[in-house]
Amino acid sequence: MPRFERKRRIFKNKDALGESYQPDSIEERDEEIDAYMDALQPIVDGWEPNNIFIYGNTGVGKTAVTEYLLDVLQDDVEAYDDVSLSVISVNCKTLNSSYQVAVELVNTLRPTGAEISSTGYPQQTVFKKLYEELEAVGGTILIVLDEVDSIGEKDELLYELPRARSNGYLDEAKVGLIGISNDFKFREQLDPRVKDTLCERELQFPPYDATELKNILESRAEVAVVDEGCESGVVSLCAAVAARDSGSARQALDLLRLAGELAETRDADTITEAEVDDARSKLEQERVEEGMRELTAHGRLALLTVISKAAKDETPCRASDIYQEYTRLCESSGMDTLAQRSVHNHLSDLRMLGILSAEENRSGSRGNYYSYELDVPFTSAIDAMDDVLRLDREIETIREIAVMNNVG
Ligand code: ADP
Ligand code: MG
Repeated sequence: MPRFERKRRIFKNKDALGESYQPDSIEERDEEIDAYMDALQPIVDGWEPNNIFIYGNTGVGKTAVTEYLLDVLQDDVEAYDDVSLSVISVNCKTLNSSYQVAVELVNTLRPTGAEISSTGYPQQTVFKKLYEELEAVGGTILIVLDEVDSIGEKDELLYELPRARSNGYLDEAKVGLIGISNDFKFREQLDPRVKDTLCERELQFPPYDATELKNILESRAEVAVVDEGCESGVVSLCAAVAARDSGSARQALDLLRLAGELAETRDADTITEAEVDDARSKLEQERVEEGMRELTAHGRLALLTVISKAAKDETPCRASDIYQEYTRLCESSGMDTLAQRSVHNHLSDLRMLGILSAEENRSGSRGNYYSYELDVPFTSAIDAMDDVLRLDREIETIREIAVMNNVG
């Protein structure tokens, strides 16, 4: 008997739930697609392309819609002999400056073996090499810079490239930039001259609501999961969870995939809501752990303090109460205490990471203050703390208190 045996009881195409899958159809984005097509129209008409800037949280379909529409566009312009369209896509996630992005673009355009080194040239030299390559391609060239916010403050390329034609560097090539960003702050922080050109056309992708996510998930499940592989309610639950949290289709898809994997390990034939619940806790815990790895020891302790308050069923609670609990924890674990102000800063950081949520209270004479509580399930939070903090005794006590109070 073979030791490995194919299962495939739940999934008929699990890859369809993965990162690299490109869906055949896009659901629920008709308005965005219309606006996007409108921004791309000059290309079809044979004019210089617009520069387009697309922003929205992660998982809202920016990359998927872009890939889908540019494929359609490339097919459709073949009808016009006087339009020759090339699309160059680069994900900037690991490229942290204009220089690195420009090198990457040059090397994408050059044949294997003729790549340039990623260090050692003056920046203008790399830009010139890029213009040469673009001229050699000629025609209309769309350059897609996905996750362009990674480029950070060294954004000269975003200024130079749209001006290359009017500055005389390009003649044969008509270049359009499509910048995609998960980070709205990036747009705000752009140099006004860059903003003017790059954001010539702007498209915002809002988060999906539960109904939209349900439709997206349903049509994906048809491709990915065997018939009868999902109990009724499973897709809606995944959609509802993701809608409440992030409005991200990626989150909803990840949830469904992990739920399917759990059903598989349990040798089941269908995914039930129980697997979705378990998948959700697991993903949430991963998120908390990821966030926690970024924290300093004191940041972790600040979080443990809120967890301890939650165990006593005393959250939401204000920063001053958290501070009292914090000094108590520090004493019992033999750590130095930070000033209240620093602990406050740690609480804000935890809020940014989505681990805590805060509510502003108005209290007349004494001004406004914030009340904090966990924004992740109690169990995920304390389990994650177990792995990163060496405070076994304190954590054990908190668990016992939580059980007494029926928390978690
Ligand atoms: P973003 O680039 O905004 O972070 P993606 O485009 O990568 O998000 O979308 C995340 C996942 O959700 C991908 O697997 C994508 O195929 C899927 N997806 C997002 N929006 C839609 C949609 N409207 N229709 C079908 N699939 C979608
Ligand atoms: Mg993307």
